[in-house]
Amino acid sequence: DNAKLANLDPGSLPRFRESQLDDNVGYFIKKKLRIWCRPRNCGWESGKIQSTSGEKASVLLPDGSVVTVPTQELVPANPDILEGVDDLIQLSYLNEPSVLHNLQHRYSQDVIYSKAGPVLVAVNPFKDVQLYGNEFVTAYRQKLLDSPHVYAIADTAYDEMMTDGINQSIIISGESGAGKTETAKIAMQYLAALGGGSGGIESEVVQTSCILEAFGNAKTSRNDNSSRFGKLIEIHFNGTGRICGAKIQTCKHACSGQVELCEYHFLSYISLEQSRVVQLTHRERSYHIFYQLCAGAPSDLRGRLRLTNACDYNYLNQSDCVEIHGVDDAQKFSSLMGALNTVRICKEDQEHVFEMIAAVLWLGNISFLVIDNENHIEVVADEAVINAAGLIGCDTEDLMLALSTRKIQAGKDHVSKSLTLQQAIDARDALAKFIYASLFDWLVEKINLSLAVGKQQTGRSISILDIYGFESFKKNSFEQFCINYANERLQQHFNRHLFKLEQEEYELDGIDWTKVEFEDNQDCLDLFEKKPIGLISLLDEESNFPKATDITFATKLKQHLSANRCLKGERGGAFSVRHYAGEVLYDTGEFLEKNRDPLNSVTIELLSSCTRQLPKLFASALQQSQKPAGSLIQSGMLACQKHSVATKFKGQLFKLMQQLESTRPHFIRCIKPNSKKIPGVFERDLVLEQLRCCGVLEVVRISRSGYPTRMTHQEFTRRYAFLIPENNAHQDPLSTSVAILQQFNILPEMYQVGYTKLFFRPGQIGALEDVRKQF
Ligand code: ATP
Ligand code: MG
Repeated sequence: DNAKLANLDPGSLPRFRESQLDDNVGYFIKKKLRIWCRPRNCGWESGKIQSTSGEKASVLLPDGSVVTVPTQELVPANPDILEGVDDLIQLSYLNEPSVLHNLQHRYSQDVIYSKAGPVLVAVNPFKDVQLYGNEFVTAYRQKLLDSPHVYAIADTAYDEMMTDGINQSIIISGESGAGKTETAKIAMQYLAALGGGSGGIESEVVQTSCILEAFGNAKTSRNDNSSRFGKLIEIHFNGTGRICGAKIQTCKHACSGQVELCEYHFLSYISLEQSRVVQLTHRERSYHIFYQLCAGAPSDLRGRLRLTNACDYNYLNQSDCVEIHGVDDAQKFSSLMGALNTVRICKEDQEHVFEMIAAVLWLGNISFLVIDNENHIEVVADEAVINAAGLIGCDTEDLMLALSTRKIQAGKDHVSKSLTLQQAIDARDALAKFIYASLFDWLVEKINLSLAVGKQQTGRSISILDIYGFESFKKNSFEQFCINYANERLQQHFNRHLFKLEQEEYELDGIDWTKVEFEDNQDCLDLFEKKPIGLISLLDEESNFPKATDITFATKLKQHLSANRCLKGERGGAFSVRHYAGEVLYDTGEFLEKNRDPLNSVTIELLSSCTRQLPKLFASALQQSQKPAGSLIQSGMLACQKHSVATKFKGQLFKLMQQLESTRPHFIRCIKPNSKKIPGVFERDLVLEQLRCCGVLEVVRISRSGYPTRMTHQEFTRRYAFLIPENNAHQDPLSTSVAILQQFNILPEMYQVGYTKLFFRPGQIGALEDVRKQF
């Protein structure tokens, strides 16, 4: 195993090549041990080898049939005592079918949680499972239950925070629809129950989720309630039980133990998907709030907003999907109103929010008339533009002007130039997106202000990160580029932490640590981040050239980055990146437009001059954020340089990582068992792909590069001491362990003897188990 490990291409995907049968076929036949094979190249099935001839083996399947398969493709199955183990690392053979079989076996019994070393794996049940609620909370709190669970993770985080005084984080990832947001809510529920007691705080936490989901979630093809942003929620605790903030009154509850949950405090998020506001894929929806408002607004509000039905608005009716099966938008709207009240967003502000939502909808209905043969346009003066102008608080004429002209510099002066049809549509959509994105920012700020603990920091917190996982589709664009970049950063965080944990355990037990290899993904991060020659820098540079195209961008990448082993230039406007989770081919089409911030100066001026409070605020926030740093102004460079979308994303990500760096992380990987979103179906290939992408196989790989199987000397001697002659047995378990190892000729490089434990290379216990079985 060791030699094969050394031969692994360090950049190759983590696969389980190292646990093939190869030369051991004879042994498996003799011992009648189970193996995995793939008859007819379909799924994995377990069986027993009957005989071999040349390169082929005859395998007896459980249904009594015998199949012939290439010997090379056989992989060992685990002994029966390991069926359905809690922790994948306990498996003697960590190959793909064994890992999958273990997860599937558990899933079929509604055991949706498993461990992979320190990582919790959660397989979405797509139905209610009886695993939550007060009884379970109590059982985990009192350590009566120790099977893998989100509660157990939250409980450990809580204990470590209290005993070590170190801030904690729970990092949840997985693909769309895998259950991240639900898992985050379950973790919050547990923490709220610990720190709060009666339902008050828990309900406040849930209410906040209700607001965020209304404005930040949408129906997509993969999830009816898909979060289109990543979020970090920080829950602060008070170590002494004393009040630690001005607003604590509203959520002070009977303490459990000495800890009191002060406040659900801080929320930050990255990158709301803006394009969804104006453009929808078939059968998907825009953000829930648009439909909720149309369905649920009471008639007086409806009148003030000039609101009609969702299907009347171009931004909503373009995708042939206005309703979600089983969801009552009107009822959701009334829950939302309740939630807004709970977080103390006043009626006046609520009205302002709804005005902006209605303004966006009316903007989408604004149409243009082509007036000459150069495709120049004027805005059609209908109810759409009148209503939109009324809602943002400007003159209809000014809005029409902003949507049909732009200012360009001619010498010292500005001259006004008419827009073409496409330019006008872009300007209109840019305005709608800007208003919506700003509104979301504003709401998050309001929630934070309302739930803030106050200036007094307690220094004890648990943060929960709910962020989209690695994505690789047939066609990957700018969005996947950003998401995968973020995941690359998180993966590094994950690897480094895991590595540290391993190192600590080895060192504590006096084991030579240098024999464990570890691979970092710094190369790939450099590819993205290096200045001035990295993917993001080059993208920004190219986005500043008006004449640049996707092809010139792709060529530039090839020119400058071909030396980096993580990048491969492809034909045409494509490039591929070797991510930790696999190679992804990016299509540069639209990269430049999506990276530019398209709001033109006429629109910004218009918003600044609006009589309504929010648009004005949004415009000034934008102007503030575009102010370049002092030194740059002085040097005369970048006087009007805007931050590109990718650079902003990178900034947000750095802030997030900084926050995480100062915490002790706990990882949860959510897995979607099937793409039909139904209970009881476990599609192995789909699951395998995710295990790979979300780094679970990576954990296994890291463990394999060390000594994944650990047993205390007591455990080891209890199980195997009877195998050695009595006169070889010693009084102390350590010496007995060593005697057993020698008796069975376990090669010295296959294990290490620690002070308290034995550390084994993969597969070693399996061999001992086989011997044990004969007795
Ligand atoms: P996205 O990245 O699109 O936001 P997500 O990973 O956050 O996806 P969720 O919205 O949390 O996915 O889950 C999708 C759906 O799966 C939920 O609406 C719910 O129906 C179901 N689900 C997830 N976790 C559980 C669970 N523990 N118990 C029951 N149902 C669940
Ligand atoms: Mg989600």
